[in-house]
Amino acid sequence: MFDSTEKFAKQMDEKDPMKGFKKEFYIKENQIYLDGNSLGLMSKNAEKTLQEVMDSWKDYGIDGWTQGKHPWFYLSENLGEKVAPLVGAKSEEVVVTGSTTTNLHQLVTTFYKPEGKRTKILADELNFPSDIYALQSQLQLHGYDHEEHLVRVKSRDGRTLDEDDLIQAMNDEIALIVLPTVLYRSGQLLNIEKLTKAAHERNIPIGFDGCHSVGAIPHDFHNQGVDFAYWCHYKYVNSGPGGVAGLFVHEKHFGKTPGLSGWFGSDKSKQFDMEHTFSPAYEAGAYQIGTPHVFSVAPLIGSLQLFEQAGIETIREKSLQATQYLMDLLNELLSDHGFTIGNPVEDERRGGHVSLEHPEAASICKALKAHDIIPDFRSPNVIRLAPVAFYVTYQDIHQTVMTLKKIMDEELYKNYKNERDVIA
Ligand SMILES: *Cc1c(COP(=O)(O)O)cnc(C)c1O
Repeated sequence: MFDSTEKFAKQMDEKDPMKGFKKEFYIKENQIYLDGNSLGLMSKNAEKTLQEVMDSWKDYGIDGWTQGKHPWFYLSENLGEKVAPLVGAKSEEVVVTGSTTTNLHQLVTTFYKPEGKRTKILADELNFPSDIYALQSQLQLHGYDHEEHLVRVKSRDGRTLDEDDLIQAMNDEIALIVLPTVLYRSGQLLNIEKLTKAAHERNIPIGFDGCHSVGAIPHDFHNQGVDFAYWCHYKYVNSGPGGVAGLFVHEKHFGKTPGLSGWFGSDKSKQFDMEHTFSPAYEAGAYQIGTPHVFSVAPLIGSLQLFEQAGIETIREKSLQATQYLMDLLNELLSDHGFTIGNPVEDERRGGHVSLEHPEAASICKALKAHDIIPDFRSPNVIRLAPVAFYVTYQDIHQTVMTLKKIMDEELYKNYKNERDVIA
């Protein structure tokens, strides 16, 4: 049973099946890093494989494409195969390529086929701005006014989306649906299965942005029949700043020609024929465009070894326990200080972070940082706290809440301006 003593936190750490992993990551001594949902930390494995790939450039020059420890020519597909278990996909349904936003562009150019009355794209008013900008520009490219053609389903409480509202909006004017798996601010996990089923009953293709779930939550994209998905690897998958992203295309769509073509989307045996007729790969590899950013892929090789060792189910279990523990402590120790827990509290509806709201959120975050605790601020009033399963312990969580209590009790946050920095 939960209690708020440090002793309880210690006991939880002793029982934690993930306890061996923290030492595999670089964390400043005495620092507690709760921002792995924005940028995951470097692991020793990730550092090692980045070094190995640099060495293969040093040792092989051009022949590094086919020789060395991690031949570059096949890296994107080989890693797609390794990411596939994280998203519940078949090996050939995933490729590591591009960035979240460029992959969204690629997938929309392929799956958005306005016809007759069906011309609109369905999204939501809480999604990450980059996704919305991409959808707006795609509509403009088709000559549509995005104010009218991008339908953004409203949130009832400003934090979460109601699946029934989303389904209600899936009418016969909708040509494509793009939604997040987990909302970046409130951490709500949407019911992907229910939404996909509803979309398909209405003959609408549906795709998901998995930035805030891949690496934290197991998915089942293949069995659920999701048409496509895209996500980054630099958040929960710890692949480093600018780490190359991933995309999923369901095998029922294999053989389509991607909306945006480039030679790295070729059938690999034909790529160097140098024909002017594009022969796309049959599988998800077809959605690549140009030469892979090899050094920005390399850390992912090592990072994924840790996911293989831990298993995504165990990662999710720890993450759920850790976020629950954090919420229990906040409720017990900080209930008098004007905080609101903005994420859904049910296990099946919350992601990997706790979304703590407070009018003084920006200054509280600065005070936490001054105490070597790294949170994440989202304007105007959200403190995101991600107890990442690999490297945040229960004692870290306990210390975070005790420090937060001190910051509030002693009003230490008043020493800082309540406004965001350039990066927040
Ligand atoms: C992090 C994030 C992005 C970032 O896109 P990039 O192309 O990697 O810069 C986009 N969408 C969502 C939902 C995100 O969480």
